[in-house]
Amino acid sequence: MSSKEKRRRVGILGTGDFARALAKRLFFSGYDVILGSRKPEKKAIYAMDQCLCNVQVLSIEECIKSASIIFLAVHFDNVKELLTEHVVKLEGKIIIDVSNRERPSSVTSNAELVQKMVPGCIVVKAFNVISAYAMENDYNSSSKQVFIASNSENARDVVANIAKDMNFRPVDFGGLFAARRIEKHPLRLFPEWKGPLGFAVCVFIVWLIFLIYIYFIEESVYKWEQLFVKVLNKAFCMTGITTLSVTYLASSFATMVQIYYGTKHIRFSRWLDKWLKNRKQLGLLSFALISIHVIMSVLTMSPTYLSSWYHSTTITIPANLTVPLQLKQTAWMNWKGEAACLVGIIAYVVLSFICATTFPSVTDTLNWREWRFAQSKMGHAALLLSVGHVLVMGIPGWLSKPHLIYKSITFLCLIIPWITLLVKLVFSFPLVDRYVMKLRKGWERREKNCTADCARSVTNEVYASFDMNAGKRKACTDACTCPDDPMPMMNFGSSISIIASGKGQLENIPSL
Ligand code: NAP
Repeated sequence: MSSKEKRRRVGILGTGDFARALAKRLFFSGYDVILGSRKPEKKAIYAMDQCLCNVQVLSIEECIKSASIIFLAVHFDNVKELLTEHVVKLEGKIIIDVSNRERPSSVTSNAELVQKMVPGCIVVKAFNVISAYAMENDYNSSSKQVFIASNSENARDVVANIAKDMNFRPVDFGGLFAARRIEKHPLRLFPEWKGPLGFAVCVFIVWLIFLIYIYFIEESVYKWEQLFVKVLNKAFCMTGITTLSVTYLASSFATMVQIYYGTKHIRFSRWLDKWLKNRKQLGLLSFALISIHVIMSVLTMSPTYLSSWYHSTTITIPANLTVPLQLKQTAWMNWKGEAACLVGIIAYVVLSFICATTFPSVTDTLNWREWRFAQSKMGHAALLLSVGHVLVMGIPGWLSKPHLIYKSITFLCLIIPWITLLVKLVFSFPLVDRYVMKLRKGWERREKNCTADCARSVTNEVYASFDMNAGKRKACTDACTCPDDPMPMMNFGSSISIIASGKGQLENIPSL
């Protein structure tokens, strides 16, 4: 048997960018590839790419006849016109729809529409998330996922094996209706960043308005020229530390909810769920903001911009001077400048380290304990150091004008960080820590568990079968008081367990 006969044959309808990239990749993955074109005689594809010299270009009909697995690499708008006259010949064949949409749809998908057009074939949605460029050039792509959906389990397996042969990672999405989700995927634009970014922008605007009010409107402390660096630098710093503390506050909130209900088997409200899932983005944003603050501070490190960090540079020239006078002007930092620098630098280095541990290549080398240590212990240490940096800057001013402390930016921007650190401190007390650990190992407080059951029962009453849960709720109400309305913390549709970003952890609340 020749080596060509051993190759498994696949057909590709279309000879465009994606079809050619796919053909090349499939050929190098050990497949015998046939391209189907409307005008095969005019498609000298080997002239475009010599690697395709072993790939035949046939008519659409011949291509369909020669292969049992056919990739549909044409734009969806042209699919109907292309397939209408071949519906019978396509019966029983596997058609892999790689098309993408311009707009997402929750009602249907291209793949489902293809299935309707050719009811006798088995449509599989796959490969649409891989670009023609990656298909052609990125052979080291074992981490690249190919999402697969089809109503035939066998067809999903066949396509998964093709994806594996091409050095992609297949992910089985189940039935063809999942093609709606798969087709939405390439249209996403950083969805997980929207919330954290919106939050950071809002906090930044609030701090900026406050700074403009105290420095330019209430009093003329600075010239407007200083808005771009001197004033914005403060706003970046204040937003950075607020965002950093909010990142770590989420897990404390979740712990409070678990303590309140006496169980870890609790559905968090949607906002808390989202907050927990967005901690990685919040943390990275705070790092970016703090980096801007560091760069701006280094660039403006001078007695003019940071006068309180330096000893006075005032020079007194005698009035009756008759001989040339040379004055050596030195501007040493005072204790405040040196201490603020030291604590700030250490905080930034710790933050950078934490940030590095979120890179997949680093995360993969860490075990759960190391990752948790970096994200939780070092994270809180970085927050504490950042608070220390601001304290060094602020305390002298608070002591000199205690009656104006409520207007001090250093005081105001530390309120949320203090809350975060205090709550963490309380949860670190052995008694509380032991209790929380007990909850996380699955122990449930009876009375509160009942409350949780009540809430679950209420949830189910609203959304599922009323009768099934009525008895449960009644028993629950008898044992302890059930609230009449669903509890505010028990929002519907959020997940019971939290997946720590980077490391799946279903048991514990990762205290980032
Ligand atoms: P393309 O370069 O425009 O190629 C489309 C091919 O469709 C043409 O070469 C043509 O081949 C064939 N075709 C059949 N009927 C047609 C008609 N009525 N009008 C025009 N062309 C017709 O497009 P592409 O970039 O390869 O994309 C093909 C499919 O792959 C699309 O559904 C796209 O969403 C999907 N996709 C593309 C990428 C990417 O990076 N390009 C990534 C993922 C998915 P013949 O002239 O030989 O018949």
